[in-house]
Amino acid sequence: MRVLLTESQLTDGVERLAAEIDAHYGDRPLTVIAIMTGSLVLFADLIRRLSMPQRVGVIRASSYRGGIKSGELTVDSQMMIDVTGRDVLLVDDIFDTGKTLDRISGMMTDFGAASVKTGVLLHKNTDHVVDLRPDFVAFEIPDEFVVGYGLDYLDMYRNLPYLAVLSPDEIAQTAADAAS
Ligand code: 5GP
Ligand code: MG
Ligand code: MG
Repeated sequence: MRVLLTESQLTDGVERLAAEIDAHYGDRPLTVIAIMTGSLVLFADLIRRLSMPQRVGVIRASSYRGGIKSGELTVDSQMMIDVTGRDVLLVDDIFDTGKTLDRISGMMTDFGAASVKTGVLLHKNTDHVVDLRPDFVAFEIPDEFVVGYGLDYLDMYRNLPYLAVLSPDEIAQTAADAAS
């Protein structure tokens, strides 16, 4: 495993992200929505650093289905809270193709949100397939498959306190372990 961002670099990044979001919204109440499951760790760290009054909710998106390449996107909004007339901030772990945040931003508008912005820990340097760009970004990273700090491969590695790149051997071993 090759470490891309250490625990203390991640902490600094989340602090920067929170400061940017605080500067943008000031004391206005904010409805902060975690896009599960990848944003789990970031979300817990981020919301405790934001200063405004907050409503907190979750929505679930899934597009990987066991692989490391993006596939069909499904969104489960059963646990969503009411966002009618609210300023909404969507929080996700990583912006890759942008399909997830683009789709969910549209859903928030359909649900009646007054405004919708997006914040991510990581922004991958790839060819995005949507016009949307994240409003708040902590780190730009190269186009590699990363795990840790909430991001998984086959539901493993979310608990790592750092962000790492798996080698092809580690990917194969994890897949073999999952199948056995
Ligand atoms: P997008 O819809 O922007 O292509 O993808 C966003 C979702 O794909 C993220 O929420 C994340 O769950 C997953 N994803 C994208 N890149 C990576 C990566 O490098 N590692 C992991 N573990 N998940 C990723
Ligand atoms: Mg995700
Ligand atoms: Mg995943």
